[in-house]
Amino acid sequence: MRGRFFDLRSAHGAKAPSGLEGASFGLGLVGAKASARFIALRDHIKVPCILDSAASARSIATSATPLDYSELTGMLGPEIYHRDALSLGAAASLSASCYIEAHDTAALEAVAESSSRIDSGGVIASVALDVKWLRNDAVDELIEVLRGISRPVALTLGGQFNPTDAHTTSIPNLRRIYRECGHVGLWRVDVLVGFDAMVHGALFAGIGNSGTLRHLVPPDEKPRFGGGGGRPAVYIPKLMQYFSLDTLTDRWTQVGGLICDCPVCEGRAPTWMAELSEGMRAAAADHNLWCWLRLWEELDEGSSAERASRLADRIVAAVEAHTEESERVGALGAFKPSPTLATMAKLAALTPEAARTPAP
Ligand SMILES: [Zn+2]
Repeated sequence: MRGRFFDLRSAHGAKAPSGLEGASFGLGLVGAKASARFIALRDHIKVPCILDSAASARSIATSATPLDYSELTGMLGPEIYHRDALSLGAAASLSASCYIEAHDTAALEAVAESSSRIDSGGVIASVALDVKWLRNDAVDELIEVLRGISRPVALTLGGQFNPTDAHTTSIPNLRRIYRECGHVGLWRVDVLVGFDAMVHGALFAGIGNSGTLRHLVPPDEKPRFGGGGGRPAVYIPKLMQYFSLDTLTDRWTQVGGLICDCPVCEGRAPTWMAELSEGMRAAAADHNLWCWLRLWEELDEGSSAERASRLADRIVAAVEAHTEESERVGALGAFKPSPTLATMAKLAALTPEAARTPAP
């Protein structure tokens, strides 16, 4: 799984990505029914598939109950579940770790120890936690615990909206984690944070193909939505950000939209999907995946410093493109970079040019 990104789709009704195969990506099925969905889809899946039962979306970890397999195997325990996943043909499965709240070191350690102890191959330790663990006063402790986990780790950040938007320290501290723990991948994120992880040394990235899979809302909180009218969000490559189809339809009414030449859109602006009476979500998901694949093809060459430098250049250009696009539609601030995109652009500017541009 090293160096791959995974297209995360909900186990509830997910379709397999249409006609795609490749060495750079895989599929992740997320939800308590991930195994059942995998059985239904596996003949159509041509890429490695990881199963994530997403226990962290349902229960909070305590030192006594760090993992929860009750919905998956009843009393039979983790080994049965993970060995079954392998025998079904899944590439790996995430441990059914519960959600770790901020400051709960005992729960974090219990999740780490219990996930390390599972006696089966093909297990990825799931560590899903409050994004406050990425603050400067907590990240050292987190790194120490992660380093002690004896198998690959899928790190998931919890919070409302986009967790990395909440603290400016999140991105630099995530990069520190990838650097200092070579076995950590980032899970359940958007493509920007996912590819940032990939170019800065993460083992893999799991990129959510729907809003609910791009971050994790703590199990004891109701998800708060930033609008979207129930229509899916689509990724706009030039702006490196997702927008709901409703927002785009509204902003682009007068001037027409940015066209997309992916095989799904075929030279139309992605807002064409808003007219579909069915299949809108599948079209949006396939458009998103094509856009990610193209971006990754652009980035995935040369040394890690070159890849990071290329992504940094794209990020700086995307921030400028928000201003240009707002001017084009005639409304100042109509397109605004997310706090995470803005933070990454600032970090790119801080990086010495010599480090970002490798010698010829
Ligand atoms: Zn497209």
